[in-house]
Amino acid sequence: MEELFFKSAEDLLQMLAKKSLSSVELTQIFLKRIKAVDPKIQAFLSLDEERSLQQAKASDERRAKGKLLGLLDGIPVGMKDVIAEKGQPLTCASKILEHYISPYDATVTESLYRSGAILMGRLNLDEFAMGSSTENSAYQKTHNPWNLAYIPGGSSGGSAAAVCAGEVPLALGSDTGGSIRQPAACCGIAGLKPTYGLVSRYGLSALASSLDQIGPFARNVTDLGLLLQVIAGYDERDSTSCNAEIPNYNQLLKKQQPCRIGIPKEYFSEGIDLEVRQAIENVIKFYEKNGYSTVDISLPHTHYAIPVYHVIMMAEASSNLARFDGIRYSHRSPKATNATDIYFKSRGESFGSEVKRRIILGTYVLSSNHLEAYYVRAQKVRTRICEDFAKAFETVDVILSPTTPTTAFKLGEKINDPLQMYLSDICTVSVNLSGLPALSIPCGFSKAGLPIGLQFIGKAFHESELMSIAYLFEKAHDFALRFPSIT
Ligand code: GLN
Repeated sequence: MEELFFKSAEDLLQMLAKKSLSSVELTQIFLKRIKAVDPKIQAFLSLDEERSLQQAKASDERRAKGKLLGLLDGIPVGMKDVIAEKGQPLTCASKILEHYISPYDATVTESLYRSGAILMGRLNLDEFAMGSSTENSAYQKTHNPWNLAYIPGGSSGGSAAAVCAGEVPLALGSDTGGSIRQPAACCGIAGLKPTYGLVSRYGLSALASSLDQIGPFARNVTDLGLLLQVIAGYDERDSTSCNAEIPNYNQLLKKQQPCRIGIPKEYFSEGIDLEVRQAIENVIKFYEKNGYSTVDISLPHTHYAIPVYHVIMMAEASSNLARFDGIRYSHRSPKATNATDIYFKSRGESFGSEVKRRIILGTYVLSSNHLEAYYVRAQKVRTRICEDFAKAFETVDVILSPTTPTTAFKLGEKINDPLQMYLSDICTVSVNLSGLPALSIPCGFSKAGLPIGLQFIGKAFHESELMSIAYLFEKAHDFALRFPSIT
């Protein structure tokens, strides 16, 4: 029998329902697991055991009275350390927020409480979610549970590694250019970036406001659906929140009919590993055998996606990060002697180099001399990228691609080469630029034993369609049932 800590949330909920296990016991199992493996994985930035156990006790009491709160009552969930939980650290993996304790809950945190979930702790990331390897964290480097010498992906590397290593069954992350899907792919688990506006970002520390979305990590597609069900929905505190109808995601999982899958030629060009390409080709054959028609499509502006993303993301990041000024909150330099000094020294001392790089470049592209040449032009090309998708969705229902061009790379391999690092997001950033939903599930392993990710991109608010298509593949293979042995 597989270990309890590798079970899906769905299975654990059944065990709780049958009373073969209490939530306190379950929480203790995960805390024990965290203590056993996290010194090697380094996924957690902080834990609050007492709080988690209290929440678990309250869940057991509710269960005994037959008064469960919601879908995840009694189930542990981990949180990327950019999402606010009242009374807990909110560091964004940055020194500038080292001692900051959140005074309020994000909307998704409130939703988790309302569902009865147990909040387990704060998960590592690249500083302010800037990166693809989690190496930009100011505190620690998270390791890939499949091979500790490799990166877990980023920026939500702590969330992905924690689920992969059996430290939590579910976790939340944020995705601005791929930060849920890319680490999900690197760690061989499921991750979903919802449609822009489906999940409230109130209480998410903003990286690039026109791109950011919060989304779930899980062991399988059914669990993704459970967690998405809990966090999706309108919120008047986020002005970009949409009042869309929220379907019952898991009821729809098994119901969908074969449809047309688009294969975009631009996602299979140079830079794709042979092993990744072969794994994706096998996936395409699988769907064809199962009655799906596959259609070759073109998304002609794809090669602009990385530069356009970086111009827009950096512009928005430079403006969002202006609030960390050492005055209203965040680290204040003890060396500062006047107000200007406070800004310069506090920011200079405590932002990492990637954050500084993006603030400087973002400020540059927004400056009056360059606004037209960079920012305005990038917005125009962004519209072209959106139109590519709109046109493709006239002939296909979903789009299939690799999630990443390669499997996870070695720790240290790309950290001194930002441009190489940025290219890890080649298959994911267009989705953020166009606000569409996309998910990643594992579809194979390389000869070196590292997972390969499969991405499905859908029409806005068609998450259930993506999950049902992915579910078919997942059920027919054992990739979601393979677990790393951490040595
Ligand atoms: N890796 C991308 C970046 O460095 C995406 C980050 C994200 O989605 N938060 O910007």
